[in-house]
Amino acid sequence: MKRSTIYETGSTPWRDSISKSQNPKSRIMKNAIIYTRVSTDEQAEKGFSLLDQKTRLEKYCQDHGILVAAHYQEDHSAKNFDDRPAFQKLLKFAKQRKKDIDLLLFINWSRFSRNVADSYVMLSVLKKLGIEPQAIDQPLDLSVPESLIMLSVYLSTPEVENTRRSMNTISGMRRAKKEGRFLGNAPRGYSNSRDVGNKPVIVPNEDATIITSIFEQVAQGQESREEIRRWARRQGFDISKSQYYAMLQNPVYVGKIFLGSYKDEPEMLVDGIHKPLVDQETFLKVQSIIQGKALKTKLPKSYSHREELPLRGFLICPKCGKKLTGSGSKGNGGRYFYYHCDTKCRYRTKAKVMNQSYVGLLQTLRVRPSVSGLYLKVLGDMMKDDRRIQKQKRSQVDQQLEKVEARIAKLQDLLVDGDLTPEDYNRAKARYEAERMSLLSKKEAESMLPEDILDQLETSFSLLEHLPEVYLDANVDQKRRIIGSITGENLVIENLQTRTNELNPFIKCICLETKGLEKEKAGNFSFESEKSGVVAGTGLEPATFGL
Ligand SMILES: [Zn+2]
Repeated sequence: MKRSTIYETGSTPWRDSISKSQNPKSRIMKNAIIYTRVSTDEQAEKGFSLLDQKTRLEKYCQDHGILVAAHYQEDHSAKNFDDRPAFQKLLKFAKQRKKDIDLLLFINWSRFSRNVADSYVMLSVLKKLGIEPQAIDQPLDLSVPESLIMLSVYLSTPEVENTRRSMNTISGMRRAKKEGRFLGNAPRGYSNSRDVGNKPVIVPNEDATIITSIFEQVAQGQESREEIRRWARRQGFDISKSQYYAMLQNPVYVGKIFLGSYKDEPEMLVDGIHKPLVDQETFLKVQSIIQGKALKTKLPKSYSHREELPLRGFLICPKCGKKLTGSGSKGNGGRYFYYHCDTKCRYRTKAKVMNQSYVGLLQTLRVRPSVSGLYLKVLGDMMKDDRRIQKQKRSQVDQQLEKVEARIAKLQDLLVDGDLTPEDYNRAKARYEAERMSLLSKKEAESMLPEDILDQLETSFSLLEHLPEVYLDANVDQKRRIIGSITGENLVIENLQTRTNELNPFIKCICLETKGLEKEKAGNFSFESEKSGVVAGTGLEPATFGL
């Protein structure tokens, strides 16, 4: 066992400048004891040698106009204060000179202690002496009650040699995660690094910008997720499908750390200390798109997109029931386009006629402004109720939070008064802290519900009111998405007209209203999505066109 050494400074300004003032706060310069501590296995670690600690503390005092009254150095690795000879001598010195000493300085809180309960006890001892302990790397205003929570995080955070050791244990990992650290291999867009305290952090790397862009594009919903992935690959960001979907749902990109449930603790999201690549709104949009809350887009695969053939892959062959493809052929000084079946069936039909017929189909789906106005009003009322419930929930969570925080504060009092053993204290506090964390994430979830959903609905209604115009103005990719999401993947050809049995249920609902209105007015209507029923068996009229 090493002997602890004490270096009481003999020639520092200390002895000359001590003012024997009764009120320490009236001194112009503060007097500090500096305390350094290292355990044998830490000696080799960069930045934690005793000399390094001492040098940094002295520089800090110099920079802040603080006089170094004494320096105590602990070579001993004992965890609690009683077993640390240098600290015991420090205390004795502090008690003798309590009127002269303002501060006890060390590098970080783990130098002070790693035991939360011990620390609280020692804090109250020092408080009685009028000495403020302070970690120069982790400054805390201990007069503010909230700082005790932060202090408990600092104290319980594994350091240097303990880092790797504790990382192997679940509780150590949870501790670090609760501190907002991403552990393990950095996800795409980040690199593993170390912060000033030599603790693991992740920092954005050269892939960060493209990931931000991917999220933004997916959130916009203009292109399919798969198209965006292929675009990213062309930009040199190689990512597999499964990695890609995992990435889009990983809260790390919005600056959060996910903590799974463990023992009594429910799962929770913790604010990470790393830089987010995506803002919350964008991330939430992407999640709602992935979870299918947005309009579902069905796109037939493996058909290339040509301006002249927007319906390619959507039309069903009236002869054999397969999907029609399309192509162009030269003739009569021009290029003519056809949708056609495979070689054996030989069915084909002029693209132009079908394209026009499809616009006609969209015309029948036009939503009346009066109908959409009514829908918006009803939805608005429903959402008002939702918002009221949301408000109630939020205030409930606030109340629960207050309760838990009061309990934590009470625990600290009980501990300091000696009414609670450190073990019981730790156990109870861990439980309340977990409860507090989960309430905090609940609170956040409640406030994260999008309030602007009505605006979005209004936009989509106005799109529906002008569907044929929007369609005609769109490029072929957008056209194909409209086709897929509005009229479904399988368009039937009947009497040279396109028809669908897979109308978007939402639109069907609105259009039934339209249909009713139209019927009353005109006595008949042409839209026939409902009753014409089954596809097969309709007039097989293989209307082929010659050139
Ligand atoms: Zn066919």
